[in-house]
Amino acid sequence: MTKGNGEDPKTGSKMERIQQGVRKRTLLAKKKVQSITKDDVKSYLLRNAFVLFTVVAVILGVILGFSLRSYKMSYREVKYFSFPGELLMRMLQMLVLPLIVSSLVTGIAALDSKASGKMGVRAVVYYMSTTIIAVLIGIIIVVIIHPGKGTKENMHREGKIVQVTAADAFLDLIRYAPLGILFLIAGKIVEMEDMGVIGGQLAMYTVTVIIGLLIHAVIVLPLLYFLITRKNPWVFIGGLIQALVTALGTSSSSATLPVTFKCLEEINGVDKRVTRFVLPVGATINMDGTALYEALAAIFIAQVNNFDLNFGQIITISITATAASIGAAGIPQAGLVTMVIVLTSVGLPTDDITLIIAVDWFLDRLRTTTNVLGDSIGAGIVEHLSRHELKNKDAEMGNSVIEENEMKKPYQLISQENESEKPLDSETKM
Ligand code: ASP
Repeated sequence: MTKGNGEDPKTGSKMERIQQGVRKRTLLAKKKVQSITKDDVKSYLLRNAFVLFTVVAVILGVILGFSLRSYKMSYREVKYFSFPGELLMRMLQMLVLPLIVSSLVTGIAALDSKASGKMGVRAVVYYMSTTIIAVLIGIIIVVIIHPGKGTKENMHREGKIVQVTAADAFLDLIRYAPLGILFLIAGKIVEMEDMGVIGGQLAMYTVTVIIGLLIHAVIVLPLLYFLITRKNPWVFIGGLIQALVTALGTSSSSATLPVTFKCLEEINGVDKRVTRFVLPVGATINMDGTALYEALAAIFIAQVNNFDLNFGQIITISITATAASIGAAGIPQAGLVTMVIVLTSVGLPTDDITLIIAVDWFLDRLRTTTNVLGDSIGAGIVEHLSRHELKNKDAEMGNSVIEENEMKKPYQLISQENESEKPLDSETKM
């Protein structure tokens, strides 16, 4: 039998049922997709709450800093205001030394001398080559842009660096990490001298440093990571956001070290034997951002002095900038101090450092972020290059665990009913 429209009712209803089924399934799938997306967003936000808080803290810090500038706070008030930030800095710095020592000891102890030797060589080759690349970028950019055109006579000098200790003990009640970053940044902006001085050559110098650092951090380092590991560098860098923002907030790669460890190990899953071995050394000697800045700033000072540098002097600047970056400690504005080495090596006036102090607090944050990025990408690269040794070591460790377990079997059989066995077993697995 067929329907009036010539359609077989059986086939028609079957078709309808199929169509209904398809519609139902599509609806269900849509609902599922919607709920997954919601859940995903929720869990993403929860997982990254700390990173988001840190980023928000930086943004709020900038806004708060600029809005409070009109109040013309006294020097003391500014110090009280930035106290929570100072507390964070001290807390982080307090962690650094024990962290460096203990992680180096555990890192080296987890590897045999051959593996640690190879890993060490790889790390040093990486540090040296990226530092030299950074210095070259600094030199090329400052020669091309030539921010030091004109004289230094109408440039602002800023010479006072005053040390102040935090006061009253009741402020100890304040806690936080992201909150600390907010006050660190806001405090610095409030403290900043008249922004009018950052014009002309100084503004050009600032832009030149930013361009140089961006080329190194956004092009060179990710490209190097990609070429060596064949993995997406942006995924790796995405896992480092918290460390990078902390570096931006604290201006100290040493103080950022605990956060860098956390990001590399917990988010990016870099082998702890690598991070513990490579990161403490990297944070102390590998400073790409500082190297780039030292070379660039020295040539800028030569330019404002109308001092023509010959090829030999440029080579001298490259070498001393590399050395000065290695010698600089991972603390705020350490690069400004070691720049004296670079300037004296080519006979430039060290007094002229005061020409660039006004913008250094800001540029320091950017070069510290580049330093932390360089160390972290280095850890990723060294892990990739050392993957075979790490695997072999894993296999060896696995064998020894089996052997130890085999040896313990008779003992375990004897005291099978003894509950105190269990910790022994888990100890072996560690
Ligand atoms: N503040 C930088 C760091 O901690 C060093 C520098 O001044 O360039 O990495």
